[in-house]
Amino acid sequence: MLEHFPAPLVYFGIFLIVAAAFVLLCVLLLSAFQSNLEGSLGGNAKFTSVLIVTSHPDDEAMFFIPTIDYLREKEVDVCILCLSSGDADGIGHIRRKELQASADVLGIRRCNVRVADSALLEDGFHQEWNKEDVTVEVTRSILEWAPDVVITFDEYGVSGHPNHQATHRGVVHAMRSKSHHGIQLLLLVSLPLHIKFGGPPLALVTLLFWMASGSGSPGSIAIQTNIGLCWRAMGAHWSQFVWFRRLFVLASTYSFINVLAEPMHGTTIPDRQPSGGARDSLSDDTRIANGTESDVN
Ligand SMILES: [Zn+2]
Repeated sequence: MLEHFPAPLVYFGIFLIVAAAFVLLCVLLLSAFQSNLEGSLGGNAKFTSVLIVTSHPDDEAMFFIPTIDYLREKEVDVCILCLSSGDADGIGHIRRKELQASADVLGIRRCNVRVADSALLEDGFHQEWNKEDVTVEVTRSILEWAPDVVITFDEYGVSGHPNHQATHRGVVHAMRSKSHHGIQLLLLVSLPLHIKFGGPPLALVTLLFWMASGSGSPGSIAIQTNIGLCWRAMGAHWSQFVWFRRLFVLASTYSFINVLAEPMHGTTIPDRQPSGGARDSLSDDTRIANGTESDVN
């Protein structure tokens, strides 16, 4: 029967079947591993509330789903502070609603989702956010939700978006306050570009390398293999769900794995040049770890 089809088409079909089987095998292997965030979340200490600080509506769906999925499974109260309404294209009012819809998909209570309403935190690649303005919003959310743990981007900000990097700097700055003593800060480690878009196979490779590095591995890891959850959460952001973001959901390693590290570990990715802002914030992290906050401007 196959002789009725051109040879290249047959080979392409065989390639697709083998590739799909390989991806499925990687998903099965990934699902055999357990998330181990307990290590970073205070060991056996009881934690009940975690605040995730993002920059734009859809960041939670694009980057943080393994972490959120793990926390929801543990019945931890997940709160989201989104620092901008994503109004760069004038549709911030729509994107606010999309974030609520995404929260519904992820099992996060709507009252636990807040979009900062600040004219000083406008969405945009060329919008500069002062860390003091971010601190105001983070502090407000900490007072409202009293989280045990705060999670946000690392200094590179996953995609290198300046708003993500400013979010990192602002959260780090906010967490220096004595009134936030005892609240743990964890950063989502930015993956190198060559493993950022590998789907389950490269998520598995990331996991194996992370495990192989033993005591030298930073932080802890969250794993999830339900691609349908990522698809539905990102689909809730329907104004953003264009073809390349659909591809992102399927191919992104962040859909399947999150590496979280405390600031003291640093999160610089060795094969990438961080921006000037990233270098500044890394210095901030190092100073926090060394307890020399007063050195930071
Ligand atoms: Zn973003």
